Amino acid sequence: MSAASRAKRNLPDLEVTVLEQTEDVSYSACGMPYNIADPDREMDDLVVRHAHVFREKQGIDLRTGHRVEGIDRSAKTVTGKNLDGEEFEIRYDNLLIATGASPIIPDLPGFDLPGVMGLKSLEDGKKIKDFIRSQDVKKLVIIGMGYIALEMCEALRERDIEVHMVKPRPIFLPWMNPQLASVVKEEVEGQGVFIHMGHKIERIEKSGDSLNVMCPDLTLEGQAVLVAIGVRPSSEMAAGAGLELGPSGSIAVDRTLKTNDENIYSAGDCADAYHVVTGQKTWVPLALRANRAGWAVADNVTGRRTELEGIAGSAVFKVFDLEVARTGLSTNEAEKAGFDPMEAVVKTRSRAHAHPGSTTMHVQIVGDKKSGRLLGMQIVGREGAVHRIKAPSVALHCKMTVEAFSQCDLAYAPPFSPTWDPMLTAANQLVKRM
Ligand SMILES: Cc1cc2nc3c(=O)[nH]c(=O)nc-3n(C[C@H](O)[C@H](O)[C@H](O)COP(=O)(O)OP(=O)(O)OC[C@H]3O[C@@H](n4cnc5c(N)ncnc54)[C@H](O)[C@@H]3O)c2cc1C
Repeated sequence: MSAASRAKRNLPDLEVTVLEQTEDVSYSACGMPYNIADPDREMDDLVVRHAHVFREKQGIDLRTGHRVEGIDRSAKTVTGKNLDGEEFEIRYDNLLIATGASPIIPDLPGFDLPGVMGLKSLEDGKKIKDFIRSQDVKKLVIIGMGYIALEMCEALRERDIEVHMVKPRPIFLPWMNPQLASVVKEEVEGQGVFIHMGHKIERIEKSGDSLNVMCPDLTLEGQAVLVAIGVRPSSEMAAGAGLELGPSGSIAVDRTLKTNDENIYSAGDCADAYHVVTGQKTWVPLALRANRAGWAVADNVTGRRTELEGIAGSAVFKVFDLEVARTGLSTNEAEKAGFDPMEAVVKTRSRAHAHPGSTTMHVQIVGDKKSGRLLGMQIVGREGAVHRIKAPSVALHCKMTVEAFSQCDLAYAPPFSPTWDPMLTAANQLVKRM
């Protein structure tokens, strides 16, 4: 919808058709855990712009309930079925594939039972919220421990639901520095969430009104199961049409968002992107880059050539009273990308030493020993972690060294940071080591 809206703004006479398989467009998926936390809020609060506004005010031919099933590149057509089962075929001059990502649901027994749910679409959000209400859910199992799983465990605790989280890997937040990850884990456990790591899930079984998540050495019982083990790019149709794929099976695009077909673009969670630190292709399914890529496609098809430099992998989330933030590469990712990474981890304060309300802030900084370049940063704290991460993110776009970053004139006043901001303290430590 970002691409369609901007294309119409750029060229009001352009004929723009959008085919969406569901009945929902333009809503805040990211807001769903917070909405689920509040029984008094309607899920439809999350709709940013209704379909009729796109149609009536913006002149976009938006067809909801239209699922595209095939692309014929030589005939330049897309074909599919609408919700009534009627087939359609539409010709295009330029095509944008923005099919997003789909939740990974393991092909194991019981994952199709009622009460086993994933959270991706608004429909999924409504289903989970209705299920909690109608079944009066008091106990739930979450499979997975990524950021959506963690946001959901907070939402469910808010509703006084007992939450058990389980996953096969024995490491909590594997992309995170272990010292910082243990702070997050302690926070989650401190809020009464039960964490079970290192348990392979074999199946889900129904037992009376309950569902049992079965592992060889553990059985977890709940009235509902949330499957939150990640997403994969919805790129099957693109692959079927012979378009090239990139990391994790995402649709490969160049800096203008064009695929290997002159007339087909791709943007958002289904497409890959360049990483500004490695210069290599990467796949990071997050909202800002999806929106920005949509705009870039609109500009390119309406004659305003735009190239996207790439993404820094900046991501943030909140879990209970903690803010968790990252940008750039972790030490492991830096090693894999061929850098010679060095890190510093500091535990410092969020405000000036004697200022009331100061809390602990943990910062990890990664730099490249050979070039001195800043490669990444992670921050965990009770306040100020998320907005802080934006400074190193800009520094990564500017390809700054750790030393140059350590010399940045960051602002100070006692309620906001110590004289030396926690990020500068971390950078100073790393400069000494490098
Ligand atoms: C619970 C949750 C929390 C999130 N929180 C954050 C956050 O805090 N920060 C952040 O940056 N990101 C967050 N995200 C991710 C963010 O929502 C996505 O990155 C973003 O929505 C991607 O936009 P998109 O347009 O590429 O894909 P989508 O928003 O998924 O849109 C793709 C659309 O294509 C439709 N479609 C797919 N296949 C077809 C087909 N064959 N025919 C017709 N239509 C089709 C789908 O129905 C869907 O409506 C969150 C996601 C979820 C689920």
